[in-house]
Amino acid sequence: MNRTDQWADDGQGDDSRAGGVAEAFGQLYGAAPDGVWAAPGRVNLIGEHTDYNDGFALPVALPQNTLLAARARTDGLLRLHSAQGDGRITELSVAALAPGAVTGWAAYPAGVVWALAGAGHPVGGADLHFDSTVPTGAGLSSSAALECVVAVAYDELYQLGLPGPELARIAQRAENAFAGVPCGIMDQMASVCCTAEAALHLDARTPWDHRQVPLDLRGQGLGLLVIDTRVSHDLGDGAYAALRAGCERAAALLGLPALRDLDAAGLHKALDALPAELVPLVRHVVTENARVVEAVSRLREGDAAALGPILTAGHASLRDDYRVSCPETDLAVAAAVDAGALGARMTGGGFGGSVIALVEAGSEGAVGGAVTAAFGAAGHRPPRLFAVTPAAGARRLVPQLARAVGR
Ligand code: ADP
Ligand code: MG
Repeated sequence: MNRTDQWADDGQGDDSRAGGVAEAFGQLYGAAPDGVWAAPGRVNLIGEHTDYNDGFALPVALPQNTLLAARARTDGLLRLHSAQGDGRITELSVAALAPGAVTGWAAYPAGVVWALAGAGHPVGGADLHFDSTVPTGAGLSSSAALECVVAVAYDELYQLGLPGPELARIAQRAENAFAGVPCGIMDQMASVCCTAEAALHLDARTPWDHRQVPLDLRGQGLGLLVIDTRVSHDLGDGAYAALRAGCERAAALLGLPALRDLDAAGLHKALDALPAELVPLVRHVVTENARVVEAVSRLREGDAAALGPILTAGHASLRDDYRVSCPETDLAVAAAVDAGALGARMTGGGFGGSVIALVEAGSEGAVGGAVTAAFGAAGHRPPRLFAVTPAAGARRLVPQLARAVGR
């Protein structure tokens, strides 16, 4: 890949992988798949740690997808294989699926089948083969991509006809109750409901009422650089649950259903009423929701460059108030801004993962190079860099479904 290609991802690459994934399926399972589906990873432009507070977020889908070749089975067997797995086929019985019964990566896709069945949908078994270009564990939501691609495939294989937000809710339930990760709904909503050339304005209280906000970065002379710091600090999972519990406790003390119900006008009075340790959490959530509203207004006015300072302010809030950044993400943000980025912030749950930088088109290489140099000087491994344009959400790639259950 030459340098120009690296910075100009057109988002079409993954669609052309469908044939190869179908072929690999045939070799594994000895038959052609019923279809091939794709679900992307995401970066969140702004609105971090707000979804589980019933608040706002503004994700875009990545051009990188998890592909799934799938074939329905009538015997209740669920077989799973991933090109990124351990080479084995995992065999499960749909009837025996229960939280705790499946460990490792298979818990995410199996959890979706369990959640669909638990919601009363008439689903059975399938043969599944996954192949993904979404970096895993990088804060880019490979877990949501893995869940959501199963949700959209099952929706068609078993002719459920569920709307996108319902598929996202099922996928979130799989991650929460089956894989045991207490995430909000943003990642799954982004993976299912994003559209190309747009950011998804999500209100986590009413996910079905999401809005597409047009975002033609290139048309506005801008680029979005993703900087995967390639660090993931272990304190992540327990800390996430503790933060979530802190927010819920603050809302309860304030007599509110969720922190989303507190606005900037009521913030100061509310902060006076809270124990000191909850003050910065509440301040982050309230100011972060306001930043999403502001960002959406700027985008609607056609001024995507105005997102820059909003991103950087969001990072300061994550670093100083919510305290989920780490030296590597702070360095990436500082180095990107020093090198001329319009703004930058950590994206995803935190404690490592990825940083996004909004840059002037053509300066991706210079900004990325400056971040790499800063990482080298600090003794960190070089980050992984790529530019993205907002891409499409989950979809079927192979046009005709060859076979459907019941036919
Ligand atoms: P993120 O969602 O930010 O990538 P997570 O820790 O939430 O990070 O999810 C990463 C996990 O998801 C991996 O450790 C693995 O278990 C699973 N996973 C994601 N994509 C795949 C894949 N293509 N094949 C197998 N497992 C995957
Ligand atoms: Mg995840």
